[in-house]
Amino acid sequence: MGKDTPKLSLVVYPASILRKQATIVKTVDGPLIKAADAMFSIMYENHGVGLAAPQVGMSKRVLVIDLRQDDQPIYVMINPRITKREGETEAEEGCLSLPEVFGQVKRAERVEVAYVDREGEERTLLAEGLLARAIQHEIDHLNGVLFADRVAEAQKKLVDQKLRELAESAKQKSKEHAR
Ligand SMILES: [Zn+2]
Repeated sequence: MGKDTPKLSLVVYPASILRKQATIVKTVDGPLIKAADAMFSIMYENHGVGLAAPQVGMSKRVLVIDLRQDDQPIYVMINPRITKREGETEAEEGCLSLPEVFGQVKRAERVEVAYVDREGEERTLLAEGLLARAIQHEIDHLNGVLFADRVAEAQKKLVDQKLRELAESAKQKSKEHAR
């Protein structure tokens, strides 16, 4: 691997990269595709169905989704942007970067998303159900937004408590490393 493809690994809250606006990808090249493939590996290792590049320490506008369990193709979306939203639906979400945290989140029921695929082709997709939810969750990551920011009011306290615990345990771990 060259200097453009650093070793990627799962990043967990409260890592600051999770709050950053990810940058637009200018060229879809070999190193980028390699990084996307690494994202799939990391996602599978952690039993996820979607992952955004900031979650592996790469602040670029790339996401991967594998919802074959829901009869969907596998997606690599580069520079994705939602161009239309319709309806509203609420369901429970979790996130590989927020272990043990779950909450009800309202999302658009259907979205139209424009993106560049791994061949560098411009594409448009109409998505609904789980796929629409996954796309919205992962695009949020590219904007530094976590599902925890969007949980229903009734669960906000519990989720915030869980986040404090995650931050505290990260602090403990870094202390142990320093020792
Ligand atoms: Zn997530």
